[in-house]
Amino acid sequence: MTIQQVELSRLTPHPSLEYWSVCKVEALFETPFLELVYRAAQVHRQHFNPQAIQLSTLLSIKTGGCPEDCSYCPQSARYQTGVQNQQLLEIDEIVEKAKIAKARGAGRFCMGAAWRGPKPKDVAKISEIIKAVKALGMETCGTFGLLQDGMAEQLKDAGLDYYNHNLDTAPEHYHEVIGTRRFDDRINTLGKVRSAGLKVCCGGIVGMNETRKERAGLIASLANLDPQPESVPINQLVKVEGTPLMDAEDLDWTEFVRTIAVARITMPQSYVRLSAGRQGMPESMQAMCFMAGANSIFYGDKLLVTDNPEEDGDRQLMAKLDLEPETAENRKPQER
Ligand code: SF4
Repeated sequence: MTIQQVELSRLTPHPSLEYWSVCKVEALFETPFLELVYRAAQVHRQHFNPQAIQLSTLLSIKTGGCPEDCSYCPQSARYQTGVQNQQLLEIDEIVEKAKIAKARGAGRFCMGAAWRGPKPKDVAKISEIIKAVKALGMETCGTFGLLQDGMAEQLKDAGLDYYNHNLDTAPEHYHEVIGTRRFDDRINTLGKVRSAGLKVCCGGIVGMNETRKERAGLIASLANLDPQPESVPINQLVKVEGTPLMDAEDLDWTEFVRTIAVARITMPQSYVRLSAGRQGMPESMQAMCFMAGANSIFYGDKLLVTDNPEEDGDRQLMAKLDLEPETAENRKPQER
């Protein structure tokens, strides 16, 4: 068995879940475009209120200087991207930002730190931050990298709801994008997160010179996680000058919409988040993504370090499309 086959074998699904082979997901990608979107829209309506969009706000609580070599990331210390390094923010500053996000309608506050993984002393500090944000009555999500044994439990005890840890890309394409860790390392941390009882936010990035088969491989890997992730961020690569992927080939917009639709069909109960790359998407393309089953966005004018559409622009777009922020009242009862 090759390393990649060993990695894939760890994704063995639960018998109650439909198994998504790469071929089966590829066949979905090949469905005529409008038929695929229609099918995804049907699945979306079975499980969610299609008018409600879950809003998350993301804050970088520790920026830049990361030792990893992710080819898409401006926060890697290996690339000259102009990102200013910032040590872990003070708790008061983070809570202030969370309050603003809540007042603007965000239900979830996501915090990201540019580490390979946190050290035990970092987890102690983050735990205090999580407690303070949780006390505002918001859902909390953290993305802090690879976790050591016991860390996920500490974060859960502090009140963390979700842990974000993306699979990034297909197992077969992983080594083309990241050399400092393996796909299997991601699976191991996801296992720790699940064992601790945290909800999982796990998705990937498309437009990193992967083939369609590899996009199908990413979606199959996500869909075969057991249980499936509660949140699935689908990112379009933001090409940042200085990163190795700054000249990556453009992905046609229809292929991105297809990826959203395929994620919706294969993970019917997950929140599919239209994540990074939205800044460069015309409103009509975003509308098509919502039609294809996306029901979550990052809300706020910054992602970790790259731009996101202005909140006013998002509010206008949602008004044009008759969409509203998801609340406990407009959420379908069976949603998680
Ligand atoms: S994606 Fe995360 S782990 Fe990779 S270089 Fe950027 S901050 Fe580090």
